[in-house]
This record gives sequence, structure tokens and C-alpha cells, in this order.
Amino acid sequence: MLKAKIIGPFSQLLTMDTIPLKGSVNDSQLEIIPNGGVVVSEGVIVKTGNFDQLCSEFHDLEIDRIEKNMVAMPGMIDPHTHICWAGSRAKDYSLRLAGKSYLEIAQSGGGIGDTVAKTRTASANNLEAFLTERATAHLLNGITTIEVKSGYCLNTEGEIKMLEVIRNVNQKLPVDLISTCLAAHIKPTNFEDSSTDYLKIVVNELLHEVMKESLSKRVDIYIDKGAFTVDEARVYLRYAKNLGFDLAIHGEQFTSGGVSLACELGAFSVDHLEMVQDHEINMLAASTVIPVALPGASLGLGCQFAPARKLLDASCSLAIGSDWNPGSAPMGDLLMQAAILGIFEKMTMAESLSAITFRAAAALGLTDRGILKIGLLADMIGFPTSDYREILYHQGTLKPSMVWKRGDIVKG
Ligand SMILES: [Zn+2]
Repeated sequence: MLKAKIIGPFSQLLTMDTIPLKGSVNDSQLEIIPNGGVVVSEGVIVKTGNFDQLCSEFHDLEIDRIEKNMVAMPGMIDPHTHICWAGSRAKDYSLRLAGKSYLEIAQSGGGIGDTVAKTRTASANNLEAFLTERATAHLLNGITTIEVKSGYCLNTEGEIKMLEVIRNVNQKLPVDLISTCLAAHIKPTNFEDSSTDYLKIVVNELLHEVMKESLSKRVDIYIDKGAFTVDEARVYLRYAKNLGFDLAIHGEQFTSGGVSLACELGAFSVDHLEMVQDHEINMLAASTVIPVALPGASLGLGCQFAPARKLLDASCSLAIGSDWNPGSAPMGDLLMQAAILGIFEKMTMAESLSAITFRAAAALGLTDRGILKIGLLADMIGFPTSDYREILYHQGTLKPSMVWKRGDIVKG
């Protein structure tokens, strides 16, 4: 976008400005500009305010005129997905509904091993097509920045293939894909040596290459029973940090341990937290680590949610990610999941909307988006309503009818 323009008028412009990064938030803290407008130049917000005042102040600018009732807010940010995969785990899901255990499903040829086998054999072109379809669906649902993890090949060649696919799709689509190297998802089933040996190979063969080729700036590891221990993760993440990677951790989904390491190493986020303990919540509150709840995984597995209310009341930040993946979180609807977590955990609308905008940006270390204010990216979404409360009230079924990425209309 080259020319400056004014976008509006919006029935309400929900800026998400002036809300703190951490702690509980009341809806009265939301900045709502009635009859609002946004001035955009070169994809960046120049000014927000009353639409008529903006029109007289910037009278020579072109106007993207909104003719109907519309509430605009920052584009949503999904800080945790696994949407680069091949295959389907519908059969696993049917077995889970029939009461089969994780182990029984894996033994019948399902589980993550099935996704790894199919993603390894998929061509880069096919994988690009799958990722393009999912990232486009997310963008049209209002998610203008999507984190995407590797971690379904679990060998050097395949993990590089995944990260290259994410880079290529990022270059082709208007949505921003933020890639994360999750080669430390689990130890591959056909790998005979120890987990430590596997991580050594990842460090020696993969991480240097990822850094050299600028395939990702982020490294993630899954700490849990059946994945990696805290001690294994500490050695691995320290190495990654020394190489210059930003850190994220999958932690506290079924067993405790990830939070203390995230705080110790200064990770950007620790994600899952279904099993987080009180003393760990206090640790998070005193740290810069952003807790990320993944209600999509709770819904996909039929498990408890992360204790969002408790985290917020303890002055933690809280972001929400979809965890969109073929196994535990096939739904992939961030807004619906935020709405569902909100009603179960009694999160205010301000807290839920913060969790999928600027607090999610912070989980990715991004300071240039997630709020509609001067100098930030003009990533915006517009809902066909005149009252922002309708957005979460419809529990995710009211979708944005307009989406702007860097000021350009990509939907509507
Ligand atoms: Zn995940």
C-alpha cells in the first residue's frame, strides 16, 4: 500500500490501547471510539480518532468508507499453531470418543507417529498447499499473524523442509507466518538412542542450519511425560539461546515442570498450563514470560482448561492460542476457543480480547501489532455489528466481515 487513506466510519473502534500487559482487566478499561476512524500510510497507523475530525484534518486523503454498522479491532494473533502437516487424524478422534487411550490409539497406527510419517513423505509442494489452505482460512477468520511450528518430521532434512514451506507460504500470502523450530516435539519412534542423543543431533545438524539460513528465530520444546524432561530441555534450550534463538516451551499439559524452566531461561512464553501449580503461577507473575492457554487442546482431548482466571488474578499476563494441529486440537477456531475459555473461566471480554491481540503479540516478542495506535501495523478486522460485546456473545460464530493486513483489504 503506497497511498495514505482514512478507513471508517466504524460504529466502534476498539483500539486495545492503554490496557496493561499483565493482570486482570475490566471491560471499562477498553478504549472504545464511537464513530471512529483510522488513518493509514504505508501499512502503518498514522492516527486513530473520531472519523469526522480525521476527515477534516486529513481532508485530501482517499477514504475507505464503511457503509454499514461495523466494530473494528486489531487483527487477531494466534501465538501457537502446528498447521503445517499432512494427513488426517479423524480415525484417532473416533477412537478417543470410543474411550481408547493415547497408547491404544498409537498402537493402532495413530497418534503423532502417523502425522510424522505422512508429513515426512509429503512433497514440499503438497505441504505448501495444505499450509496455504489453513493459513488462508485463519486469515479470513481475522487472524492476521499466525505462529507456525515445525515438528512433524523430526529429522534434519524434514524439519528444514517444513521451515522452508512456512517461509515460502509466508512470502506468498498477505498473512504473517512466524515460524518456530519444534524439532524437539518428541523423540522420533524409530530413533533407537536416548532423547539426549536425539537433541544432540538437532543441535549439531539442524539449529545451526536454521540460524544460518534464517529459517526461524524461535525454538520450542515439548516438556512432558513421553516427550522431554526438564533437564534435557534445559541443556537444549540453553544451547539454542546461546545461538541467538528466542525460546518457547510446551509445558504443564499433563505433568508439571515447564514453567520454572521458562522463567529460569527467560523464554518468551510457556504454553498449555492445564496442570500449572500455584507456586508456578507466582513465578510467572514475577517474570516476563507470557502464559499461553490452549483451549483448543482441552476441547480436542476433553480435558480441563488452563486456569486462566487464577493466572490473571495473580497478575500474570495471558494469551490464547489455537494449538491448531491434527491430533489434539483439530478445530482451529481461535475466536470460538477464546469465547469458550472466557465463559468457563469467567474472563472479562477485555481479558479475552487482550489474549488474542496484544498479549498474544507479546508471547511472540512482537511489539509492532495487536493495538490500534500510532506507529503500529494497520492489521485490523471489522465485525458486522455496532456493539463490541456481540463479538464474544456469539461465541465465535460472528466472524469478521472485513480484514485489513497492513492497511490493505484482504476480505470484504
Ligand atoms: Zn502445541
